[in-house]
Amino acid sequence: MVEDCLFCGIVAGTIPSQTIDADERTVSFMDINPATPGHALVVPRAHSADLLAIDPADLEACAASAQRLVKRMGEVLKPDGFNLINACGAAAWQTVFHFHLHVIPRYEDDPLKLPWLPRGGEADEIAALAERLRVDG
Ligand code: AMP
Ligand code: ZN
Repeated sequence: MVEDCLFCGIVAGTIPSQTIDADERTVSFMDINPATPGHALVVPRAHSADLLAIDPADLEACAASAQRLVKRMGEVLKPDGFNLINACGAAAWQTVFHFHLHVIPRYEDDPLKLPWLPRGGEADEIAALAERLRVDG
């Protein structure tokens, strides 16, 4: 547990939350500023700042918990879809530096606009980046 970490406080129960699921490695609770009705967060019990720092076993556990939540939300809220979002770094909108996955149920008519405007990609640019990123290239 890291002192002054909001989500460590939620995991420890010293900061109130609407916890909806928990297992050995993770805790899931409602986001206090929901992007859509049902928006929840999954965090590892063990503190790690972000996607770069998290233990892969905790990441796996968070992914499994997110899937469990999505299934539960599907039954209970009957949304039309879901977004799973992780912000890693302030430039990527991370504001709480204890790793978390956003689980956001989506509804056909919800007003949520993520700041992402899909536009036609440049094929050459995409291919060049793929070349640089390809593991065995
Ligand atoms: P991010 O910007 O990806 O780091 O997301 C942090 C999220 O934590 C935001 O969606 C906040 O609304 C949420 N949040 C902040 N404080 C609390 C809290 N006390 N309980 C639940 N969610 C919180
Ligand atoms: Zn923490």
